[in-house]
Amino acid sequence: MSEDDGKKTLGLRGGARPGNVKQSFSHGRTKNVVVETKRKRVVVPKPGAGNAPAPTVGGDPSRRPAGISDNEMDRRLKALQAAKAREAEDAAKREAAEKERAEERARRREEAEAKEREEQERAERAKARAEEDERKKREVEEAAKLAAAAPPPAEDAPRGKSAAAPARKAPAREEPQKANRNKGREDNRRSGKLTLNQALSGGEGGRQRSMAAMKRKQDRARAKAMGGTVEREKVVRDVQLPESIVVQELANRMAERVADVVKSLMTNGIMATQNQAIDADTAELIIEEFGHKVVRVSDADVEDVITQIEDDEKDLEARPPVITVMGHVDHGKTSLLDAIRNAKVVSGEAGGITQHIGAYQVDQDGTKLTFLDTPGHAAFTSMRARGAQVTDIVVLVVAADDAVMPQTIEAINHAKAAQVPMIVAINKIDRPAADPNKVRTDLLQHEVIVEQMSGEVQDVEVSAINGTGLEQLLEAISLQSELLELKANPNRSAMGAVIEAQLDVGRGPVATVLVQNGTLKKGDIFVVGEQWGKVRALINDQGDRVDEAGPSVPVEVLGLNGTPEAGDVLNVVDTEAQAREIAEYREKAAKEKRAAAGAATSLEQLMAKAKEDENVTEMPILVKADVQGSSEAIVQAMEKIGNDEVRVRVLHSGVGAITETDIGLAEASGAPVFGFNVRANASARNTANQKGVEIRYYSVIYDLVDDVKAAASGLLSAEIRENFIGYAEIKEVFKVTGVGKVAGCLVTEGVARRSAGVRLLRDNVVIHEGTLKTLKRFKDEVAEVQSGQECGMAFENYDDIRPQDVIEIFEREEVERTLD
Ligand code: GDP
Repeated sequence: MSEDDGKKTLGLRGGARPGNVKQSFSHGRTKNVVVETKRKRVVVPKPGAGNAPAPTVGGDPSRRPAGISDNEMDRRLKALQAAKAREAEDAAKREAAEKERAEERARRREEAEAKEREEQERAERAKARAEEDERKKREVEEAAKLAAAAPPPAEDAPRGKSAAAPARKAPAREEPQKANRNKGREDNRRSGKLTLNQALSGGEGGRQRSMAAMKRKQDRARAKAMGGTVEREKVVRDVQLPESIVVQELANRMAERVADVVKSLMTNGIMATQNQAIDADTAELIIEEFGHKVVRVSDADVEDVITQIEDDEKDLEARPPVITVMGHVDHGKTSLLDAIRNAKVVSGEAGGITQHIGAYQVDQDGTKLTFLDTPGHAAFTSMRARGAQVTDIVVLVVAADDAVMPQTIEAINHAKAAQVPMIVAINKIDRPAADPNKVRTDLLQHEVIVEQMSGEVQDVEVSAINGTGLEQLLEAISLQSELLELKANPNRSAMGAVIEAQLDVGRGPVATVLVQNGTLKKGDIFVVGEQWGKVRALINDQGDRVDEAGPSVPVEVLGLNGTPEAGDVLNVVDTEAQAREIAEYREKAAKEKRAAAGAATSLEQLMAKAKEDENVTEMPILVKADVQGSSEAIVQAMEKIGNDEVRVRVLHSGVGAITETDIGLAEASGAPVFGFNVRANASARNTANQKGVEIRYYSVIYDLVDDVKAAASGLLSAEIRENFIGYAEIKEVFKVTGVGKVAGCLVTEGVARRSAGVRLLRDNVVIHEGTLKTLKRFKDEVAEVQSGQECGMAFENYDDIRPQDVIEIFEREEVERTLD
């Protein structure tokens, strides 16, 4: 077809100039093949070429008429017209054909292009997908890394990531662009590329993001170049600072990096990790160092519900004084307290009262006096340490046949420190060796000037044994009390202090509370230390249930959710929710404080300790006791033991049976466990045996103190030591006439021996210690009963036995002391 076209074209031209035509013709024939290539070139200039002959032809008639005949001219003109018409026809045909060809070509090109595009698209999509996958993977990895790292660096991390990710993406996206540029000569193509790019949704966005990342990168670089401090100075934060704060939290509140805070702590000589708590003073230093403002927050706002109402003068009424008896060991504190109670107890049922709630009231000529029945300095000081000053008057007991002793001096110092007036009771005046004046003069050395020495401190000579001077002592107390003008407002919600607390087997946690202000009533909701509760029952010092207790009245409070500690303050609040909230807050705060005290050891302290440790031996011990009071008394006594070379460290102290946890702690520190009137439970005993942890039981505090003292000074000599040879459980209790109560027992461990010593344990607490009156097996009196066998046992002079009680059988032997 194209060949024909070529011929015709040439022919046409030939039509205009015959010579040429022929020539062209022959050329056209011979150059058949070439025609096409030429045609291509011809196609474009063709309209020009087509027009060119026209003026030539049109010009001819004007020029020719001179030399040619009209006929000839007509013929020629006709021929010319015909040729012209043919030419126009041909041109149209050619154009159509050309167009067709062009279209064909375009179609083919488009097909090829579409194919190519498709391929490219596929390739790009694959690439994009691969890239996307990789990016996601990286993001996940980075997220994981971030999660592992601390939050503040996490702030920077996403920035770094977004900067890095587009940077990685950019070259990948440029590739297709480059390819486009090379091939894209037509708009079609370009538009195709654009569509493709747009189709790749990431393309445009990626470029934008990478720009943003670049900007951020630059910003950061600039900030870095400026030393990085600019940012910090810009934002000065008010940092809320509680009593102790975890390093991480401190960093958060300052919006600083944890690492920087830890570093700053280190430069201040405090080694603490991000999860450790530091105390407020240390934290304050750090906050100031970072240029922030410290806002100390007092005991959280939850405590605000405990209103510290200042009582109106007109609401105040006189209240009984609270008296603590202090003095040196064996000078007669307990005897004196007992004597006063027995002589003066309100019920008048002297001697018949066995109820011990840690305090009691006596009636002195119509006015009441409240005595704290927890002699010793332990209670006094531990209460003061907790901020509960309950004592109004101190009775200092000094034995007339002895002298002013170390603990006497201690008591004087305590009373002075607490600014509590003192009354000196010179005891044991009945003793032949009694020399009260010596006591008076001795006291002078300690700035205690008694009335008889023209001083202001009242002194009374007494005898706790035969009751001499008791009345005078009580009078002296009332007189002192009058001078103090003690007052309280009974018509307000109660506030008091815990004197003693313990976990009672039958009744749950029980606290003896001395009401200091207001009136505590049954049903009151209260918070006490880290515990809270609702008063289920109030029991007074005579064991009677009462509905309320006013100022200076000691009562046992039932209905606590946990056991508080001596010295804890009780406050009545409106709702259970408040009580619970405060208790929980306090528990948390106490935990943090303890952690802070343990954790934030300064380098200096560590060094000092290490230095000390070169020549100081520390003897760690664990103490478990039957009641809080004993435990505290022991701990305080322990803390005083020691000299420059050795000291005792109480790792842990608590109330209740010795448990496996205690043994674990003891084993870890190589410490012995001291049980005061308590026993290890079965699993603790086994563990102790396995781990070689020494458990020592005591029922007299001074024995315990003496042993530890001796051990601490390396003076332990041979001792009488107890070996537990067996345990028996009481299954049933029988009443046998002539014998009394007999326990039907099963020997659960070891052997029961008639000659051995026995103790009665109730819930691992020692109830009685003594000997056996009888050991029977099937009605026969036997010397021994082996483990797994049943037997009958009865105690000498003791009857209060119950099923489930445990009988501990022990023997004494003399052994070398091992405690060191
Ligand atoms: P505490 O350690 O201060 O509590 O002293 P105690 O009350 O346990 O008394 C120690 C010892 O001194 C006991 O054996 C009492 O019997 C004895 N005792 C206490 N007061 C007197 C007293 O007034 N006269 C005599 N003769 N002995 C007393």
